[in-house]
Amino acid sequence: MTAAVPSALLADRLRRAGDAAATRDVDLLLITPGTDLRYLVDAGGESHERLTCLVLPATGHRAPPALVVPRLEAPGWAHLPLAELGVEIVTWNDGEDPYLLVSDLAGGPQAVAVGDTMPAVHVFGLRDALPGCTQDLAGPLLRELRMRKDTAEVAQLRAAGAAIDRVHARMPEFLAPGRTEAEVGADIAAAIVEEGHASAAFVIVGSGPNGASPHHELSDRVIESGDVVVVDIGGPLPTGYFSDSTRTYAVGAEPPLRVREAYAALQDAQERAVAAVRPGVRAEDVDAVARVRLTESGLGERFLHRTGHGIGLDVHEDPYIVGGNALPLEPGMAFSVEPGVYLDGAWGARIEDIVVVTDDGCERLNTRPRDLVVL
Ligand code: ZN
Ligand code: ZN
Ligand code: ZN
Repeated sequence: MTAAVPSALLADRLRRAGDAAATRDVDLLLITPGTDLRYLVDAGGESHERLTCLVLPATGHRAPPALVVPRLEAPGWAHLPLAELGVEIVTWNDGEDPYLLVSDLAGGPQAVAVGDTMPAVHVFGLRDALPGCTQDLAGPLLRELRMRKDTAEVAQLRAAGAAIDRVHARMPEFLAPGRTEAEVGADIAAAIVEEGHASAAFVIVGSGPNGASPHHELSDRVIESGDVVVVDIGGPLPTGYFSDSTRTYAVGAEPPLRVREAYAALQDAQERAVAAVRPGVRAEDVDAVARVRLTESGLGERFLHRTGHGIGLDVHEDPYIVGGNALPLEPGMAFSVEPGVYLDGAWGARIEDIVVVTDDGCERLNTRPRDLVVL
């Protein structure tokens, strides 16, 4: 994976994470590989049975920042600016207890916060090595940082949006009557990579009745003329930032009037929800705008999921655009606006754009036409 984040930005993130920990009376953050670690030190990779763990002290706590890594994997960390960031690499050998090593480095903490996706085997190992120390989740603290994207992150999300838009622009090459969803999906997955993603993380091609299942993926159903097809696709750029965009297409023939009418209501709901996004508006208010509009057209019951999710290094992260989330939106927050309507056994439709909150509204990162295009 490419190291792309300037070390000054990483230093700032580490400092703010330490400050946030201090504010919450957490002595140490313990973060294993995953998107939190990627955010803090720009390191890729995933957690496995050998412990790799960033030991990040709260501002004012006496432990030194350290990255505990298995000795055999140390070369894989050499490209990171860890010395510049003041993070010491501490290696351990097979046969040694890495949890005791963390405990030696930890400086007698009373309370630690572990990353939300730390494997349970490491959570329990650390618990045993730090008796009497409380463990909490680091997510609530780190999400305060990760939710507000800096300009480098917005630039990455913008590039991801443009890349997935180029794939949607090529849909006439892929979608045609007589092809199966799986065949279309394979072509789309290849195009996602061709257009600049590291991988195709998800490819949903929901044709005809399959479109009524929001998280349908691919099947061997043959696409027929007159089908409405939901295409929801995305993946990470080499830097880890995700794209995610849905368009709904009509294949081969104009769909019947009732479908076009329902689609028009959906398009208006998505448009209004995007228009409602600005600083100070609550996340749940954006959801309500889409829901109220669809309810007006008798489709409220057919919109069976939240309006959106935050996006960044994870494809689903805070803030969630859902009823009950009173979080006021702030500049730099990035999330999807993706209302849908799902008519069991018949068809479905969804329109999804990623938006970033600006000082006075939002920027849409997906700009492909939102009309029900007939291919
Ligand atoms: Zn989804
Ligand atoms: Zn999506
Ligand atoms: Zn989405």
